[in-house]
Amino acid sequence: MQRRVSAARHRMCSITWESTRAFLCRNTFVIFTVAAVAIGISALDSKASGKMGVRAVVYYMVTTFIAVFTGIVMVIIIRPGRGSRDSPMTSSGNIEPVQAADAFLDLIRNMFPPNLVEACFKQYKTVYKKTVYTKNVTVMINVTDAVNSTESGRAVNASAVLQTVQERVEETLPVPGSSGGVNALGLVVFSMCFGLVIGNMKQQGQALREFFDCLNNAIMRLVAVIIWYAPVGILFLIAGKIVEMKDLAQMGGQLGMYTVCVIVGLLIHGLIVLPLLYFLVTKRNPYTFIGGLLQALITALGTSSSSATLPITFRCLEENNRVDKRVTRFVLPVGATINMDGTALYEAVAAIFIAQVNDMDLNFGQILTISITATAASIGAAGIPQAGLVTMVIVLTSVGLPTEDITLIIAVDWFLDRLRTTTNVLGDSLGAGIVEHLSRQELENQEAEVGNLVIEE
Ligand code: ASP
Repeated sequence: MQRRVSAARHRMCSITWESTRAFLCRNTFVIFTVAAVAIGISALDSKASGKMGVRAVVYYMVTTFIAVFTGIVMVIIIRPGRGSRDSPMTSSGNIEPVQAADAFLDLIRNMFPPNLVEACFKQYKTVYKKTVYTKNVTVMINVTDAVNSTESGRAVNASAVLQTVQERVEETLPVPGSSGGVNALGLVVFSMCFGLVIGNMKQQGQALREFFDCLNNAIMRLVAVIIWYAPVGILFLIAGKIVEMKDLAQMGGQLGMYTVCVIVGLLIHGLIVLPLLYFLVTKRNPYTFIGGLLQALITALGTSSSSATLPITFRCLEENNRVDKRVTRFVLPVGATINMDGTALYEAVAAIFIAQVNDMDLNFGQILTISITATAASIGAAGIPQAGLVTMVIVLTSVGLPTEDITLIIAVDWFLDRLRTTTNVLGDSLGAGIVEHLSRQELENQEAEVGNLVIEE
């Protein structure tokens, strides 16, 4: 009976969610990664060349990494996905878990793929294979020898001629469960460098920027169409998971703990870490500043979109908190595109949660990979509802986690999306306050220059 239900489920999946996933994860993955990350980074454009741009970027990077770190610490301490399946993914077949040093070196090699086209299909991975050698030995034992050897305690044992050797093999191979073994990290690093270059090419790079922007929009539109019928597929996949699940209560509990883990991480980041950073830099009360942002934060909670919240964020910062317009107009639009602390934190927690659910032990290199790709995926995510769920594929693929397990967290994502968007908006706004404080000298100089010009005229 169980087998028949399972077969039916697989057929339903193949025409619904499986095709959606195939589209999202394989067909559009490469184009999406390159276009989204390149265009996100190129948004820095000429503005990034100024001191203000450098400060903003440093702030974005530092806070995003802190957010990822907080998320990782939370998910490792709480372990929401512990004790799930009986069969660990890592010991499938004859592939053994890789050692931390090799994983780290794989990470470096994957960051700089020698061949970009190959990176679309393969990633480097060191594996340990168990090889059983059979020595081709003809053992001739005559009766006397056998008796002698047994008597002297040196019995000839047949297994002595079989030897199991663990061989270290370096090769490029598709990682189990990944979307076709795409080297996500390599593509992300390339796209970041490419985005920086076309951003700095000013007028010359305009055509390429428009091309990637257009490509990104086209892919997002296609994704939107696919996502429109995805609920049907998701329904069947979740139903399938429930049928397969031995302990439903356990899964419910795990999802609850995962939700708690993300919420606690976001609260620590949004209400302790970011305000502390604001206080240390500006020596002003961060909570008064946050009070001025209330309307924007509530809008973010309601819309799940940092981009849709942008006009309200501008108003709160400029009218309530009196932040200079030259800063908000520069920092906020870029921040809404590339600075998503909440999304980065959530991506790291979700990826490690999925690893825990699959009983997959992550080593240091893999956790480092998750932190880097979660940062990149948050940069690549658009400021629209559930964009982080799509870029999650980048993070999962980078460490070979099954991308279909995104369905495990979909049930609670509508809710977590609202909270992470609020954190994203909060991060952008506090960033504008910090950058304004640090750039006060340049802003005053600029005002003086303009004043002099007016007097001269
Ligand atoms: N909805 C988020 C935002 O607009 C992006 C995400 O899905 O994480 O900031």
